[in-house]
Amino acid sequence: MKIKLNPSSCVRYYSKFSECKFCEEICPENAIITKENALEIYQDKCISCGGCVGVCPVEALKLTNLNLPEFFFDFLKSDENVISCKTNFVCLSALNVEYLISLALIKEFVLDLGHCKECEIKKSCFSKILENIDEANYVLSTISDKKIKAQNLCKIVDKEKDRREFFNIFTLKGAIGAVKEVEDEVKALENPKIELPTHQIKAIREKNIPDKRKVLFTVLKKIETPKNYKYLENEYLTFTSDKTIDDTCDNCSICYRICPTAALNTDSRYSKIYFDPMLCVKCHLCHDVCEKKSIKLSSYFDTEEFFESKQKTLKSFKIVRCDDCGNFFTYLGGEKLCQRCKLEEQEAKDLWGIS
Ligand code: SF4
Ligand code: SF4
Repeated sequence: MKIKLNPSSCVRYYSKFSECKFCEEICPENAIITKENALEIYQDKCISCGGCVGVCPVEALKLTNLNLPEFFFDFLKSDENVISCKTNFVCLSALNVEYLISLALIKEFVLDLGHCKECEIKKSCFSKILENIDEANYVLSTISDKKIKAQNLCKIVDKEKDRREFFNIFTLKGAIGAVKEVEDEVKALENPKIELPTHQIKAIREKNIPDKRKVLFTVLKKIETPKNYKYLENEYLTFTSDKTIDDTCDNCSICYRICPTAALNTDSRYSKIYFDPMLCVKCHLCHDVCEKKSIKLSSYFDTEEFFESKQKTLKSFKIVRCDDCGNFFTYLGGEKLCQRCKLEEQEAKDLWGIS
């Protein structure tokens, strides 16, 4: 098996209303077909380029011969400063924006684009590589003086064997150390001493927070906070977002129940809708399932969120008891019965012909 899907992460399996098809769109071999509530994967067509791994917002897809956190920590520790599809990596499109930002904040490196022009899969993957570099540099320019370099180095190894050996180092020798390192870093994230808000610690422990976000959290906690925070244009960000909810929202609760990362959540009385941009992976599921289309992207993303992220209240509701059944419901103005009792009352009226 080349590509492995974890259905419990893929947003297609969360809801039939999900419109996510990032993986299908980038796959150069049509090895992935998105269906309602499911994916079809054709292993015989997969060429292990890793494009789908890079674009999946929730890390539902993995390549069997590539562990990205492992690559991240091993590359940081090594003397190597070039990432190339011919020497030490798969297609560079597998390295998403969060990994690019995290790497650049710690180490100077060059992405070798020298092979892209002649590459058979450039049509699907090359523009994504360039977009990722642009986006990562856009974010980096607002929080640091670092920049990702991309050059046409055309690095090669003489034998394919060397490349295999490189992966073997990761998967065998490097694995124990690197995995322990990732675990240590994740443990550190859960340690209140590093001052993550409690709802983020809870989300990391209980929800589906992708490794790339844990890595970014870790790196951002270690770098110097910028003197001034800036704004990024939300529409250019693919890995996180900031949102608003307009007055058409009736607190149906589907968005905060379905959000895979708990970026959207609520209080014990369901009287508020909270949002934390640093937990959002921009999977778009909340927008897809919101019948009233009440959730909107904000125009700007404040870079303060990267360093001092706060859970904001997007909406507050009055919760009252239903006069009939006594259950709590969201009061929108004037009504005394909950939605269910109202429906039952209407059904009874219809049955007896009372208008
Ligand atoms: S990109 Fe990820 S979440 Fe979206 S359909 Fe593909 S596997 Fe599922
Ligand atoms: S807030 Fe919406 S876009 Fe962000 S992770 Fe949750 S469901 Fe996905």
